[in-house]
Amino acid sequence: MDVITVDSDVFLCRGRDVNWVLLREGTDLTLVDTGYPGYAEQVEESVRRIGGRPEDVRGILVTHGHVDHIGGLAHFHDAFGTPVFAHPAEVPHVRRDHLEQATPIQVARNSHRRGVLPWSLRIMRAGALQDVAFADVQPVPADEPLDLPGRPVPVPTPGHTTGHTAYLVPSAGAVATGDGLCTGHATSPTAGPQLLPKMFQHGDDVAGLSPLDGLDADTVLPGHGAVHRGPIGEAVRAAREAATRRKW
Ligand SMILES: [Zn+2]
Ligand SMILES: [Zn+2]
Repeated sequence: MDVITVDSDVFLCRGRDVNWVLLREGTDLTLVDTGYPGYAEQVEESVRRIGGRPEDVRGILVTHGHVDHIGGLAHFHDAFGTPVFAHPAEVPHVRRDHLEQATPIQVARNSHRRGVLPWSLRIMRAGALQDVAFADVQPVPADEPLDLPGRPVPVPTPGHTTGHTAYLVPSAGAVATGDGLCTGHATSPTAGPQLLPKMFQHGDDVAGLSPLDGLDADTVLPGHGAVHRGPIGEAVRAAREAATRRKW
């Protein structure tokens, strides 16, 4: 696990197969996403590595309800009482009133593709098949700064999932884009702004890029892949372009 200092109080934490983000204000922290269930210890370790304590996390923001992003919610909530927030349209997904996620059968059908088999074995070890339904998630309003460390602004980006949401950190010009805009993935042969393979998408993922286009940001903190620096409009264009070449 790597912790990359993006700005003095903004950190991208990179686990083997998924990222999460830490925002700091004084000693208080906001955590955006929590990795797979098996990453709980790494997520705690990332907090300590920037000099914090897990109990200093004032809130967890969820980009979307996939197992690789919400796997640590129950752990943080049970151990530290950390409140959990998501966009109203994603709350039912986090609660597992419904599920918009690639099924084991869909993954198996693509297991001949580059990187898919080793990735699927790794994520199973990380708890990808565990039940991560989390009932205690609270809805937050979009398009205004939240009263949480880093003052993140939820930016709805429906596409990857129905209520997928990015989080803009205005003071750093950075956006945690979740899986709405990635820069790499274990199953992708390329690095740079891109959309995940279609089996991971549950709506119009290309349209889901549009809300990012006009943001005042020049740093992308993706759910998968490396930090991307440069005007976000250019990253969006590059991802749209890459999507036209996407084969699956
Ligand atoms: Zn996802
Ligand atoms: Zn993901």
